[in-house]
Amino acid sequence: MATHQPRRVPKPTGASFTVTDPATGEAFDEAPDQQGDELDTVIGRAHEAWRGWRTDPETRTTALLAAGDAVEAAGADMAVLLTREQGKPLAESYAEVARTAARLRYYAQLGVPGPQPITDGRPVRSEIRWRSLGPVAAIVPWNFPLQIASAKLAPALAAGNTMVLKPSPFTPLATRLLGSVLSAALPEDVLTVVTGHESLGARLASHPGIRHVTFTGSVSTGRAVARGAASSLARVTLELGGNDAAILLEDVDVERIADRLFWAAFRNCGQVCMAVKRLYAPARLYDQVVEALAQRAKSAVVGAGLAPGTELGPVSNVPQLARIERCTSRALADGARAAAGGHRLARPGYFFAPTILADVPPASAVVTQEQFGPVLPVMAYGSLDEAVVAANDTGFGLGGSVWGTDLDEAAAVADRLECGTAWVNHHGELSLAQPFAGIKDSGVGVAGGPWGLQGNLRPFVVHRPEEGRR
Ligand code: NAD
Repeated sequence: MATHQPRRVPKPTGASFTVTDPATGEAFDEAPDQQGDELDTVIGRAHEAWRGWRTDPETRTTALLAAGDAVEAAGADMAVLLTREQGKPLAESYAEVARTAARLRYYAQLGVPGPQPITDGRPVRSEIRWRSLGPVAAIVPWNFPLQIASAKLAPALAAGNTMVLKPSPFTPLATRLLGSVLSAALPEDVLTVVTGHESLGARLASHPGIRHVTFTGSVSTGRAVARGAASSLARVTLELGGNDAAILLEDVDVERIADRLFWAAFRNCGQVCMAVKRLYAPARLYDQVVEALAQRAKSAVVGAGLAPGTELGPVSNVPQLARIERCTSRALADGARAAAGGHRLARPGYFFAPTILADVPPASAVVTQEQFGPVLPVMAYGSLDEAVVAANDTGFGLGGSVWGTDLDEAAAVADRLECGTAWVNHHGELSLAQPFAGIKDSGVGVAGGPWGLQGNLRPFVVHRPEEGRR
């Protein structure tokens, strides 16, 4: 029987940096440490490739459908690599790969809108023809490397642009493999993956050959990216942090929703922009809610992402682990009580016990900042108005959710949340076809669905007299 040879991208020959497995804390691979001066060539080639790619929508559809098939065919290798560098359970990596293929197919078939006549009642015939922008720079974080890359590259390429994609230096490997797999389906230089550190990202964001910078990451880096892109006046799309609140209503069935609520906060070890990061429960149900979540947290199977049965992997990297430890110990010092967890696990790798914090003062950093880890503060509220005010009292505005038995009442409360997406009895589910946009510090611009495609197009207008007039 032939043994399967995993697809790998060849090891770098020049300068490189190591990539660490968060389940062991040990380096296991390398990626090229590219410098900003290499970008002139890469972006020049992306410009050349754009000339052909932008002209032929049918070729683009065929190529992007083939790209979806190629991702699926390489799915097992990509998923294993993703789990090793990022830490998430293997099943979640498979889901991320599947989402990547689905998104390529979705945008392949969506297509650029045809010419659109516009009228204002005068005897003229104006028509919008949607045109691509040119080379797009995508800069992405380490929590969902493939899924976020695909959310940027699929609409940008479908719109007729080319792309230079930079993953996080914590998770460059699955993205390099994605680039190599897609190169078999796409014309040369339509997509180039570059790897390196902050200075490479900064140079990419400010490069004069880039027409659109689409960034996902932290608020502070997002501001730096926007400042960089201002130098070339490139279009900017920013998908930034979140500090989503979930509100439980008086009629909620705690036992029924506890498991779903737990995973809405702890999936991907809590490293999700749209995770539940603050929970508000009615005072009457407070002890029951804390207890139900603490039991779930204590029984969660924590382990290496590749180990069968693992539900929660390690935290992805050392700076993130330090941030979680800092926020948690600060909350405990502020008077919070750890109903579950509250500490690192005594084993190699970057493991943190799933943590439920009760009696947390509202001004504690774990409530006011984005902790981005396996830690959930639970607060009691007296009146519903008080809960809504607390949920909206944040500089972020990504998502939020309301949980209860009367769905109409829950939906009415959800309507009062100041954010881009609000869920009832769920948190974080997104359709490929819906718009995705944060308000306040959570972002600028709209991704997802036809809006994601639109964000990569410009209107070109042809304006002429009506038939029979000169
Ligand atoms: P980060 O901002 O540290 O890094 C993101 C990317 O920017 C990386 O590729 C990094 O190398 C690059 N970078 C760093 N400095 C740069 C600079 N000066 N110029 C250009 N690029 C630079 O974020 P992170 O720690 O990788 O990711 C976690 C953050 O991402 C969290 O705040 C999370 O909420 C956010 N996030 C948001 C969404 C969303 O859709 N809104 C999705 C996922 C993650």
